[in-house]
Amino acid sequence: MSRPDIDPELRAFFQCHLAARDGRRCFYCRRNFKKRPMRRKTLDHYVPHWIWPGWDVDNLVLACERCNLAKGAALPWPLVWLLLATFRPENWELTA
Ligand SMILES: [Zn+2]
Repeated sequence: MSRPDIDPELRAFFQCHLAARDGRRCFYCRRNFKKRPMRRKTLDHYVPHWIWPGWDVDNLVLACERCNLAKGAALPWPLVWLLLATFRPENWELTA
């Protein structure tokens, strides 16, 4: 799936909003963007765009390019663990 595109002004607005909400650092590796100006910040869909399409700020985090590329379109492990803990197979009901 191709990377979704966004208007540059909206991208800047989201980056300011997320920096105020989460701090001016990468959500995954926690490295500060201020101290490392060469490290480019990106907008990352925490829940991958193919599952949660659109640009809902509740699903966006700031990430450095390296972490964003490493994560790709995969589900983050904390979310996988939460889903596995919540939806345990022994609680599944089979219907005919
Ligand atoms: Zn990072």
